[in-house]
Amino acid sequence: MKLSLSNGIFSKLRVNDNFAAVKQLGFHNIEFNMKSIKKEHDTDVYREQKALAASGLNCLTLHAAVLHVKDPIEVHQAVYYGKISLECARALGVQLMTVHSNVSKKLPRQIREQCLLKVFGEIKPFAKKLGVKLALENLSFNSTGFGKNVEQLEEVLGVIDPEGEMGITFDLSHALETNVVNELLNAYGRHVCNVHMASNGHQPFTQETPELTHFLTQLQGYGYEGPITLELKQGTSLEEIAKSKTFFDSLLKKF
Ligand SMILES: [Zn+2]
Repeated sequence: MKLSLSNGIFSKLRVNDNFAAVKQLGFHNIEFNMKSIKKEHDTDVYREQKALAASGLNCLTLHAAVLHVKDPIEVHQAVYYGKISLECARALGVQLMTVHSNVSKKLPRQIREQCLLKVFGEIKPFAKKLGVKLALENLSFNSTGFGKNVEQLEEVLGVIDPEGEMGITFDLSHALETNVVNELLNAYGRHVCNVHMASNGHQPFTQETPELTHFLTQLQGYGYEGPITLELKQGTSLEEIAKSKTFFDSLLKKF
């Protein structure tokens, strides 16, 4: 398993400073979060590409810009976010993109299905063309989006991925908050391609806990060797991030 840091934590910094902050903490790998780009009026990804090359960091995954569509009128915007995220993934040489369902949990089922079909009907072929695999993330019970547990994720995947080609981004923080760690592992253990690693409320882990050991042991049992991406809440101090990194550097030697 490979330790990585979501650069969303430094999304307020300009891209060069953002990567510099990640490097200063000693990380080699990142998940590029599209929050770091002002997406409405900034689709030139050349600057990000140059900054990444200059930093020497490896970008393992990219977190798409997402919109939890609550009215079909917003579908085109969700598609646009998905496509500029894919353009950025291509520019950064990333082959795995984390996505949300992009639909609000408040939509009635039929409308939800129509929106899912429209959004992913555009994003999926574009991703395929660029050679980027999509990984659907489980959301927290308190998210505005749909897809917090196996029942909801099965509904989404049944609509957008009948071929079973998509992967899963397992967000441990969301799963702990929603109390679905085991059901998600049982259903998707073999399909996990990325992990968002944090405790409840995206707090950093700094010591071993029974839940964390259980989770990593189960993942290892499924043969997982991918990224362990620290995805931490805004405002986490540099000291706490560094402490969490030191902890995982040592813990992941066992996994
Ligand atoms: Zn996440």
